[in-house]
Amino acid sequence: MADTVELPSRLAILPFRNKVLLPGAIIRIRCTSHSSVTLVEQELWQKEEKGLIGILPVRDDAEGSSIGTIINPGGGSDSGERSLKFLVGTTDAQKSDAKDQQEVHWHSRGVAARALHLSRGVEKPSGRVTYVVVLEGLSRFNVQELGKRGPYSVARITSLEMTKGELEQVEHDPDFVALSRQFKTTAMELVSVLEQKQKTGGRTKVLLETVPIHKLADIFVASFEMSFEEQLSMLDSVDLKVRLSKATELVDRHLQSIRVAEKITQKVEGQLSKSQKEYLLRQQMRAIKEELGDNDDDEDDVAALERKMQAAGMPSNIWKHAQRELRRLKKMQPQQPGYNSSRVYLELLADLPWEKASEEHELDLKAAKERLDSDHYGLAKVKQRIIEYLAVRKLKPDARGPVLCFVGPPGVGKTSLASSIAAALGRKFVRLSLGGVKDEADIRGHRRTYIGSMPGRLIDGLKRVGVCNPVMLLDEIDKTGSDVRGDPASALLEVLDPEQNKSFNDHYLNVPYDLSKVVFVATANRVQPIPPPLLDRMELIELPGYTQEEKLKIAMRHLIPRVLDQHGLSPEFLKIPEAMVKNIIQRYTREAGVRSLERNLAAVARAAAVMVAEHEQTLPLSKDVQKLASPLLNARMAEGGEVEMEVIPMGENDHEIGSTFQSPSALVVDETMLEKILGPPRFDDSEAADRVASAGVSVGLVWTTFGGEVQFVEATSMVGKGELHLTGQLGDVIKESAQLALTWVRARASDFKLALAGDMNVLDGRDIHIHFPAGAVPKDGPSAGVTLVTALVSLFSQKRVRADTAMTGEMTLRGLVLPVGGIKDKILAAHRYGIKRVILPQRNSKDLVEVPAAVLSSLEVILAKRMEDVLENAFEGGCPWRNHSKL
Ligand code: ADP
Repeated sequence: MADTVELPSRLAILPFRNKVLLPGAIIRIRCTSHSSVTLVEQELWQKEEKGLIGILPVRDDAEGSSIGTIINPGGGSDSGERSLKFLVGTTDAQKSDAKDQQEVHWHSRGVAARALHLSRGVEKPSGRVTYVVVLEGLSRFNVQELGKRGPYSVARITSLEMTKGELEQVEHDPDFVALSRQFKTTAMELVSVLEQKQKTGGRTKVLLETVPIHKLADIFVASFEMSFEEQLSMLDSVDLKVRLSKATELVDRHLQSIRVAEKITQKVEGQLSKSQKEYLLRQQMRAIKEELGDNDDDEDDVAALERKMQAAGMPSNIWKHAQRELRRLKKMQPQQPGYNSSRVYLELLADLPWEKASEEHELDLKAAKERLDSDHYGLAKVKQRIIEYLAVRKLKPDARGPVLCFVGPPGVGKTSLASSIAAALGRKFVRLSLGGVKDEADIRGHRRTYIGSMPGRLIDGLKRVGVCNPVMLLDEIDKTGSDVRGDPASALLEVLDPEQNKSFNDHYLNVPYDLSKVVFVATANRVQPIPPPLLDRMELIELPGYTQEEKLKIAMRHLIPRVLDQHGLSPEFLKIPEAMVKNIIQRYTREAGVRSLERNLAAVARAAAVMVAEHEQTLPLSKDVQKLASPLLNARMAEGGEVEMEVIPMGENDHEIGSTFQSPSALVVDETMLEKILGPPRFDDSEAADRVASAGVSVGLVWTTFGGEVQFVEATSMVGKGELHLTGQLGDVIKESAQLALTWVRARASDFKLALAGDMNVLDGRDIHIHFPAGAVPKDGPSAGVTLVTALVSLFSQKRVRADTAMTGEMTLRGLVLPVGGIKDKILAAHRYGIKRVILPQRNSKDLVEVPAAVLSSLEVILAKRMEDVLENAFEGGCPWRNHSKL
């Protein structure tokens, strides 16, 4: 501690804005203003032994300029008013000169200070000199007069410190003794509390014993945080007794505040929850990681995320929204609930293609047509329609034409056509499967307030594909249904509406996304289930299914090469002859499309691949040649004659060995091999003949989501009460058709002279049972009308129907045959089953133009107006009743 120093009569003055330096306190200041820098330079820096300067408090605000309440019984030299008003060109050390020339209120008392340490610095771009000064407060003084020396102030001063004699006198004052004891106790208490907390090891206690009490008071008070007013009043407490009692009060107050704070901490510590502990541990772990140089830090991740977001090119309003969310994320701890969801959300925003697009090259219609032709066999009309669609796009790229929708049974190439469109446009392709989507949220996403919320399929698809202008296939759009969870179709409507899809609103995303650059294509198995408003936005292109001949061509040209390639086989090694493909088409598959054909071909290829592998092991190889089981090798070997091989040995050194192989002959699939691989044939053409071998069975044609089908109807009768039994999972419409058919037959029974065992009124006392086989498959619709009547007539007349004839048509109560739907598919199905004659309603004749000519020419089509026409043609030798009546 500094001893009492002799003060000079003049001191250079450094103003302290709203701050007080008390004797005994040490502070570090930085001088930047012109006046303070000059002061330091001239008074301290350039002097050999470090001189003294005066620190004078300056009040900043003009209003509270005077400090009139200061008690100063011992000072004696001033007149009550402690504030001096000067207009001077200097300000405090920390402020720049810009604030110069304003009214400053100097306090009339200050503290002389000694510089303990000085350092000089030069600010980089400006070259301005600054100083950092460590000052120790020594003793109080009173300002007599304030003047200028260059840019800074100097003051004529008088010391306010007591002389030794005065001090001794005070020390014997009983009031002073009592006061100092009280101060010491309080100070001691504070010290022990602080030492407990900070374990400072008794240094402060030593201080208490050695430093004179009047200095201690200043030192203690200087170490607390206090208001400017309190500091000033401490500075003004020149009288020792006043100073001591003030200091005691302040120390005590500080002590109390520490105690209260401690109590609170204790309470809080008790409640320190598990997650907080975890947080502390994690902080430590982070510190350790940093130390180790592990960079997989959350903060790094967040920084990476931010970079990714910046690169995403979001529209400005969305960018603002994203930044708000990012700021929230940055404030959160990784363990905090919501952190993860917020992060995942931002990742989505960053990943979504806001402006990234596949570059659209000039559309070459000829190339597009070639591409469609090379990818797909047949389908001339469909391809033509696609080319038209592309041509319109070429002429008017932003034309908002209708959405193409391919309708047809599975496996007819709907998906692959859509992907060919994408290829022709040079865009990326993404497929969204909508089958079974019943929840609107599947399309639109869940709001982020839900746990486990996700974006809808559209946004998800766009994220996957990574560009904002893909061709997007809405697969199986007819399979969306609506239930309590909303209507996906209405969300889809918004998607497909060019007016609305500019700002598609996904609930999860919560900011609009522009879908207008996406080219939508849809597929459906059936048209009926598609809601009319949605249908209105789409242009339907029907793909009815293929004939056997078409399937054969597709298999030979497209499926087999692809399947072989997928299995690493070359066409020279495995040969599937046309006859075998036909065999598969006829006896192993019965479908409108080619999907199960492709599957069966793949099964053949798989089996062949096994044979290749086995075969290879038994090939006699020259001993220094190691053979690679690669398709390349197979190809070379199969090329016929002898081939020069370049073989890369798997062993130690690379060297070339020329060798000759005798090419083994290609593996040719035959019927036995087919049966071995695919099992016994599943279908044959004699099925119809077998099924209709007894009376009471007729052959109908129905229409399902898988295309057309042949449907048998069986009827039988037994003793009963004249009831009608129906089985085979029938819907209401088909049940009514059965009722109708029975009524019609009963009404005409006598006309037709139908009889069972010669009894004229066979229907009395008999129950009729009608069954539709494939009992597990639900059936409905009116088109089984004619088939039902035929089955009943066959039953009652005990005559078999023709096995080569199938029929379809709705019937009225009066026996008129009404037109039905799906004629094309039904005829194709009949063709697949090897049926030779079909009976159709007369008014369906217009539909025949859609049936491929090859199919039509292989069938006899009979058009029926009335039920009698149907019966006439369904039985060998005409209608049974005619024979009967002729008898
Ligand atoms: P869908 O979407 O109608 O159910 P896909 O497009 O998945 O049918 O077609 C099934 C398979 O049949 C695909 O491998 C497809 O390439 C093939 N395919 C269908 N039709 C043709 C065709 N006309 N030419 C060539 N391949 C076809």
